[in-house]
Amino acid sequence: MRVKTESSAKKKTDILCGFVLEDSNKVLGLPKFDTKISSAISQSLKDMNGKLGKVTIIPIPSKKQAQRILLAGIGKKENLTQDTIRFVSGKIAQKVKELRLKEFSIIAPPTFIYDSISSVSQIIEGTKMSLYKFDKFKTEKVDKIPDLTIIISKSNKISRAIKVAESVAEGVIFTKSIANLPPNECTPTTLSNFAKNISKKNKMKCKIISQPELKKKGFGGITAVGKGSKNEPKLIVIEHNHGPKNQKPIVLVGKAVTFDTGGISLKPGQSMDEMKFDKCGGCTVLGIMKSVSELKLPINVIGIIPSVENMPGGEAYRPGDIIKLYNGKTAEILNTDAEGRLILADALAYGEKQYSPKAIIDFATLTGACIVALGNNVAAVVSNNKHLTKKITDSSKRTTEEIWELPLTQDYMDMIKSDVADIKNVGIGRAAGTITAAAFLKSAIKDTPWVHLDIAGVAWTQGAATKEKPYNPKGATGFGVRLVLDYLQKL
Ligand SMILES: [Zn+2]
Repeated sequence: MRVKTESSAKKKTDILCGFVLEDSNKVLGLPKFDTKISSAISQSLKDMNGKLGKVTIIPIPSKKQAQRILLAGIGKKENLTQDTIRFVSGKIAQKVKELRLKEFSIIAPPTFIYDSISSVSQIIEGTKMSLYKFDKFKTEKVDKIPDLTIIISKSNKISRAIKVAESVAEGVIFTKSIANLPPNECTPTTLSNFAKNISKKNKMKCKIISQPELKKKGFGGITAVGKGSKNEPKLIVIEHNHGPKNQKPIVLVGKAVTFDTGGISLKPGQSMDEMKFDKCGGCTVLGIMKSVSELKLPINVIGIIPSVENMPGGEAYRPGDIIKLYNGKTAEILNTDAEGRLILADALAYGEKQYSPKAIIDFATLTGACIVALGNNVAAVVSNNKHLTKKITDSSKRTTEEIWELPLTQDYMDMIKSDVADIKNVGIGRAAGTITAAAFLKSAIKDTPWVHLDIAGVAWTQGAATKEKPYNPKGATGFGVRLVLDYLQKL
């Protein structure tokens, strides 16, 4: 999808789309049309009444201007959120695709509704993300993606906002397209190759630590979990060094279990196919690193992705095993399906030791308990630092990728103490599963400000429990990419 701007809505276009507030008798920013067309618009306005997400098309007999006008309802003014235009733009894009048009124009809402940067970002993200379809394995591909013209007065600020929004949306799409790959087509090695490709394209450093070196350097969590699979584990490290040399970096860590059978503590068969999405945290880090480097953000950011396949096999690790993690602590394995915290503990400790970062943010489809607690539209946040949590919360509000903080006090740390090792990889029964998993991660690092995002509920659409959004079709959602890119841009 190519994006351009025009300052006038009077140019010829296949379809001119404008937003309508509820109970309003006009289309925001629409130029004057002759009497016949105007009365058709008035009638349609009455019929649709600006209801949120409602879309109506009016064919135009004249061929000099737009060939069609599309009215898109955005609901009541007092109910507008930072997602309304993104959501409704997605509805518009879907309609345009259904009509098989080659291009479409959207009139940006006036500044009393949104500031122009927010409008442009929401329109581009909403349309671009909604036009993505995972069709890699379909013999028949979908139609070409239409080009977009945004009607808004031009300026350098707007040009930059367009570039940023396009890169953000592409980061999300990149994350989704990898996360949606089936487990036979996406192993730790495949992920390493994706990391190498984006690094080469955008001049980032990329280091892949493979099996013999992982073992030699003491990555006990990653090697234990990876042992049961023929597809060897990898630790992927990407460096974007665009800030001052002595500036401490931000470290992003993402769990990438390319398929999680549960290991010897085998999962039940129902919906087991969805365990291909257990790599979503790592895919999120890849998407963020791609955009960060494309936009040449003037900061230092490190992406670390521990990647394994968790399989039962003759070599697999077992419940009862005691392993030694990268930071030297010993961990008793009580359930081989609680593997994410083991590989993350190694990656977090490595990130802290190697880079002395300013902050660490990790993304992981870590616990089913997170879905029990918060459902499928809000991610859980657990942190050791109020200031960092506040920054992430601010970004969450601006991007409407929703989060909710859970507490992590000493009592929870006590729940992962083991009788026979330093810690154990499950807490006490089903109590506070999301927090005890986070407690395990916290024990891997010293005092670096750290935020953990449990994205088990939000990383992919999970039936009716996931709120329907045009830009989140069935499959991976790319949750966290927009949120953390917002945080990084504000640094
Ligand atoms: Zn698991």
